[in-house]
Amino acid sequence: MTALMTVENVGRSFGGFVALSGISTSFERNKVTAVIGPNGAGKSTFFNVLSGALAPSSGAIRFKGRDVTGMKQHRFVHLGIARSYQITNLFSSLSVEENVRVAAQALTTRYDLFSHRARYGQLLEKAHAALAQVGLFAKRNRVSRELSHGEQRALEIAISLVADPELLLLDEPTAGMGPQETKDMVELIERLAGDRTILLVEHKMKMILGLSNRILVLHHGRLLADGTPDEVRSDPEVRRVYLGQNDGYS
Ligand code: ADP
Ligand code: MG
Repeated sequence: MTALMTVENVGRSFGGFVALSGISTSFERNKVTAVIGPNGAGKSTFFNVLSGALAPSSGAIRFKGRDVTGMKQHRFVHLGIARSYQITNLFSSLSVEENVRVAAQALTTRYDLFSHRARYGQLLEKAHAALAQVGLFAKRNRVSRELSHGEQRALEIAISLVADPELLLLDEPTAGMGPQETKDMVELIERLAGDRTILLVEHKMKMILGLSNRILVLHHGRLLADGTPDEVRSDPEVRRVYLGQNDGYS
């Protein structure tokens, strides 16, 4: 079985600044991989490149054996690669259901053969299925801004799920969450991981160690380590540059 995604010697620069350099790795199906590293290490840039939001400056990305380097982000989405963002990105005055339906609509083509009415029903069905997956179906008619922070993050994930992605990238899904919301998010990610490949950027080490099959460590835009949680945890170089700042793995 080939890897779902392969990353070959990928780099990304901004002007003269090298944000990512020489990254080679691959992601197997139905595994959870955490990407960690100090602030400014290049984690979000890496996610931008893997999700098609930014083209790499060098190297290649393959998805299911197909070269997707330089393709537009909507093509990535249609191929089955979706991401949720670190910053909340919702229409706060729209209902929960509307936020997801609008996202589903954005995926359809203008040349759709269905009538407007049939299409609306279909989009709503898709939205409901995505909301059910994240546990927000019962709150579908609430105005989005009334949701708790944790629920809003779950809603953003529902929005990524309408494309039914095989590869889901989550950038700091538990940012700003307390212990209970974090626990709920971990349970959600575990459920989603059943039949999906998940990459996540996270800082909460205890959570990462419990959830991930594998950890990548970025440092100054380079891949410092790539291994199982145990391997990465006991890597002296990783301890020096990263874990040392995270006493207690909190
Ligand atoms: P992380 O997510 O690990 O904190 P980022 O990927 O956001 O790090 O950023 C890595 C480095 O690249 C930082 O020094 C940041 O300032 C720089 N960077 C990120 N995006 C841009 C951009 N669009 N233009 C210029 N510099 C950028
Ligand atoms: Mg970031």
